[in-house]
Amino acid sequence: MKYCRFQLNGQPHYGLVESVSGVEKITRLLPRSPQAAAGEMEDLPSKRMDHILLANAALLPPVQPSKIVCVGRNYREHADELGHEIPTEPLIFLKPPSSLLAPGGIIRRPGISEQTDYEGELGVVISKTCYELSPEEDVRPYILGYTCVNDFTARDLQNKDDQWTRAKGFDTFCPVGPVVTDEIDPWAGVPVETTVNGILRQQGNTRDFIFALDIVIRYISNVMTLLPGDLIATGTPKGVGPVKAGDVVEVRVEGVGTLKNRIEDRS
Ligand code: MG
Repeated sequence: MKYCRFQLNGQPHYGLVESVSGVEKITRLLPRSPQAAAGEMEDLPSKRMDHILLANAALLPPVQPSKIVCVGRNYREHADELGHEIPTEPLIFLKPPSSLLAPGGIIRRPGISEQTDYEGELGVVISKTCYELSPEEDVRPYILGYTCVNDFTARDLQNKDDQWTRAKGFDTFCPVGPVVTDEIDPWAGVPVETTVNGILRQQGNTRDFIFALDIVIRYISNVMTLLPGDLIATGTPKGVGPVKAGDVVEVRVEGVGTLKNRIEDRS
């Protein structure tokens, strides 16, 4: 199942996304947020609607998380490019929900930063409350689906501050979407790519994670309670780099779609 969140007649709705004659369309309204259905996406009764092309919809971030947990340095070649050691356990940090940005929304660079970088990543959406998972427990029932995330970063501030709250936490620094789907398998390997102005900059695959999703989710759950709808950004492949006003960044996760955002300077 694939779904999005969008504005219709001034109201936010969740909508089922289906391929109709090879084109992705929003075909049904979901009665409530799939995250509130605690992983029972297939069982939600839905309402008919006039189909809307996904490409034409007024999309919103498809998640409403209580928190966004990010994994740093989860691809070996990315740790190398930033000159970091390969971590021996997952390195996690938070982005605030106020940093969320819709697909197509404008990322606003703060004047205080001289270098803002894109980081294309696979996002994981949590389906049900998850705390202190044991090493034997299967994490898959706790996953509602997957999406694209741009873990946008003020790199100079990240290097300057001991804590990354500021560098990672500006408003608009967490574009997410366009949809959430449960139809991909990151354990089997899913391509994650980023382009800037149409030029390929990052090309990774989730099979190259240093820490697989089960390790990551178990690790986080032993620190904090993950709630339905919480978002995990799973780390970025090599090829991160700076962008400036006017640039367009596209993060593509195969089987999810493309998350496209333009960069502007804050006025
Ligand atoms: Mg990142």
